[in-house]
Amino acid sequence: MDNKAIKNPSVAVIGAGMTGILLAIKLREAGINDITILEKADKLGGTWRENTYPGLACDVPAHMYTYSFQGNPEWEHRFAHGDEIQAYFEKVAGDYNVTEQIRFNEAVDESHYQDRQWHLVTSKGNKLVVDFVIAATGILHHPAYPDIDGIDSFKGDMWHTARWNHDVDLAGKRVGIIGTGSTAAQIISEISDKVGQLTVFQRTPQWIFSIPDKEYTEDDKTRLRGNQKLMSKLSARYAFVMRNTFTAAVTGNKLAHGIVSWMTKRNLRKSVRDPELRAKLTPDYKVGCKRLIFSSTFYDAMQRDNVYLETTGIDRISENGVVVQGGEEHELDVLILATGFKPFNFMRPMDLTGRDGLSIDEAWSKKIQAYRSLCIPGFPNFFLMLGPNAPIGNYSVIAMSEVQTQYLLKLIDHWRQGTLETVEATEEAKVRYNEHIKAGMGKTVWVGGCQSWYLDADGDPALWPYSWDQWVKELEEPDLDDFHRRAPAEVVPLQPAEKAA
Ligand code: NAP
Repeated sequence: MDNKAIKNPSVAVIGAGMTGILLAIKLREAGINDITILEKADKLGGTWRENTYPGLACDVPAHMYTYSFQGNPEWEHRFAHGDEIQAYFEKVAGDYNVTEQIRFNEAVDESHYQDRQWHLVTSKGNKLVVDFVIAATGILHHPAYPDIDGIDSFKGDMWHTARWNHDVDLAGKRVGIIGTGSTAAQIISEISDKVGQLTVFQRTPQWIFSIPDKEYTEDDKTRLRGNQKLMSKLSARYAFVMRNTFTAAVTGNKLAHGIVSWMTKRNLRKSVRDPELRAKLTPDYKVGCKRLIFSSTFYDAMQRDNVYLETTGIDRISENGVVVQGGEEHELDVLILATGFKPFNFMRPMDLTGRDGLSIDEAWSKKIQAYRSLCIPGFPNFFLMLGPNAPIGNYSVIAMSEVQTQYLLKLIDHWRQGTLETVEATEEAKVRYNEHIKAGMGKTVWVGGCQSWYLDADGDPALWPYSWDQWVKELEEPDLDDFHRRAPAEVVPLQPAEKAA
């Protein structure tokens, strides 16, 4: 095709976290230069900017938790610590001149589709009109605060793990932590030997898989420096192991599940000697049903003399601390809420309106779904990165984002070439895709009778139920029959001012 005939789109990317940075790099590589990245905060990094709690690390091996095109020889640990990861993203964004393209402290408040374009209004009141919007807003960034009576009456210091208060020194203090998920496990391991007394409020025990961390030596780093091929090899090796053990174990491979289960249960048996404590820490659901926690230090921390595991349910929070059912009060100086996130908000509370005035809340009123975890019928030229059913058990989200990015670039290319007038998946394709997802769920461990953030309001897991290879295969080439070839006629909705009139 004659080059002049190719359209050049303008693209707004919402969010400058891992996915936003990746998109900026890959869009430019594809020859798309009219990119605006809007970031609500004053720094890039997404989850690694927002989470700064003690013990923060990524439980996916560091050399796998990197962009495929830019390994990092400088990783200090097998499981990179939060500040290392933040530094890595800042470096990549700097190396690829992405940072200067980011408009910081500017959230997207509104995004409306009209006349085949998106009309954005930002928190600064700026207006923007673009051909494509890509929400790279992440999965876990809306803190979930527990709905516990009296929570506002606590007189001590209290915060959510994603809003860590670094002004408070925990040394010698009476600290309580609500929750025992991946976040709490890391914090407990890190602070238990620094605080005076630590009370862990556990509603549900968690399975813990032990993989020791390791510090990389200067020799290790020297070997990798300037050798992308070697780093890619290392990454691929880790990915192979993760895929064939943990990902396989949660998605129906009985042998893998048997081995991971056996090792996990053995870890509890060998690590916790006191039968009473062990019983309290023993889950009654299948290994992997809730996200498997990787830690080689959690059980040691739980067995320290200054750590107490409270398993009686919380009745209320008082001004002095936490009162459990039966009336016992745990007096505390600090209360940490390790109560997780609201994963189903996605890009909301943004006011997002697609074709014909369809709001995202209306589109998702029955079920939060997308086509290929990326496209929402009624929202042409809009992509939601890592949308519903994207997460893959204990795998690298970077790899997932890279696959989605390649896929959406192919769709944008069809728009540029004119094969697609707008990029909009059909409702039928979405329904079919979600039936396909549902068909795979029965064999996964997530339907094994536990509660977790993995489950939506209907109790359906919002993860990818198949293998990693299947994810890659299905996103290799867009099936254009699943998209409207010609843009559906738009019924232009009344604008607020017109409605008022
Ligand atoms: P989470 O797994 O959702 O855990 C929340 C914890 O809070 C659970 O133990 C939950 O108990 C408890 N909880 C919530 N509301 C409560 C209430 N009202 N009363 C008592 N307990 C309450 O959250 P998270 O630990 O922050 O982890 C979320 C996800 O972040 C992880 O699954 C993982 O994907 C990601 N993460 C990853 C890493 C990493 O290394 N890659 C590290 C940290 C987090 P129940 O179990 O009873 O609901």
